[in-house]
Amino acid sequence: MEHLSERIKSLSVSQTLAMAQKSRELKAEGLDIISLSLGEPDFNTPDYIKEAAKKAIDQNFSKYPPVSGYNDLREAISRKFREENGINYSPEQVIVSAGGKHSIINVILSIINPGDEVILLAPYWVSYLDQVILAGGKPVIVEATLENDFKVQPEQLEVIITRKTRLIIFNSPSNPTGMVYTREEMEEIARIVQKHEGLYIISDEIYEHILFRGEHVSMASFDFIYDRVITVNGVSKSYAMTGWRIGYIGAPLWIVKACDKLQGQFTSGVCTIAQKAALAAISIKDSSRQMMKEAFQRRRDLICKLLKDVKGFKLRIPQGAFYVMPDIGYYLGKSDGIKKIKTSDDLALWLLENAHVAVVGGDAFGAPSCIRISYATSDELLVEAVKRIKAALEKLK
Ligand code: GLU
Repeated sequence: MEHLSERIKSLSVSQTLAMAQKSRELKAEGLDIISLSLGEPDFNTPDYIKEAAKKAIDQNFSKYPPVSGYNDLREAISRKFREENGINYSPEQVIVSAGGKHSIINVILSIINPGDEVILLAPYWVSYLDQVILAGGKPVIVEATLENDFKVQPEQLEVIITRKTRLIIFNSPSNPTGMVYTREEMEEIARIVQKHEGLYIISDEIYEHILFRGEHVSMASFDFIYDRVITVNGVSKSYAMTGWRIGYIGAPLWIVKACDKLQGQFTSGVCTIAQKAALAAISIKDSSRQMMKEAFQRRRDLICKLLKDVKGFKLRIPQGAFYVMPDIGYYLGKSDGIKKIKTSDDLALWLLENAHVAVVGGDAFGAPSCIRISYATSDELLVEAVKRIKAALEKLK
């Protein structure tokens, strides 16, 4: 007999991780699956970072670290925020966590009371929704359409904010659409936040270095809302370090202290070796970050060119991250004679079975007529994947 809490029952399984697990299982059964589901660089962690980790082991960094992270890492992050983002966070205003995902749940648990409204800009990253629900918050979804380049218009935000709205979760470059807000568009959103006392904004900037056009703008660099922004970042995407699990925030001191209290009870801080690796990643200048970005840009060009030729797919060209989110509405309601495709999740599963290509349905991202494709893989596999998708879709009438 199971006695699960209501809390855990209200939580869905992460669809990105579920799809990744499914393709791992099928691969283990011997099927030739091309996985475009999980968002992670296919590159190995650069050598200089691995060396720093090996050295940390030899130097016996094996005892509990400070809960908020080693001082040298917090100092390096503080410097990075100043030099790369134009934001002044003292090292005390920085806390290191086990990945960006952990950073975000810490913040949500620290500031959201049951019943507080949290605005999500759809298509949003899957875990935002469930993390808000876990904290007892009420997700309020504002939808951005393909016609608006998947960007929410400021007017849409204005009308949805109530006295109960406590937080907006903002993410640019975006997972899952790859869209990037301009400085002007961000400033308009910042002005709206400024007008509403007690309203905060999480700016998830984890994809800041995977940007193909223009400049990366940090929400907290707008001085007039500096003390209402929580800047989230990490080393996973920029340095091909997804498995090391290092994320961090820069934020007002009271929020960092709250996250420290939470971490003190939950994790006692973050893996010491991974912290030393992250310190090297952030503080040593190396060309690998640029090389990976260039590879992603080339693959972006390639996959978009190929997808444009897929019947019924509508897309916007992403300007950052490594995802593209075609609208597949054309296929909803179609059938291969056995299976009817009712939702984008149905299509994702159908493609896994019929094309042996794993993508993620848009439902979990608040984008029910889209699918998300992660193109962080080799050019050859991208060509083969789209070829298979195209051939399989011909069966749907
Ligand atoms: N952020 C990546 C993705 O969206 C990794 C998986 C996850 O944490 O959801 O695919």
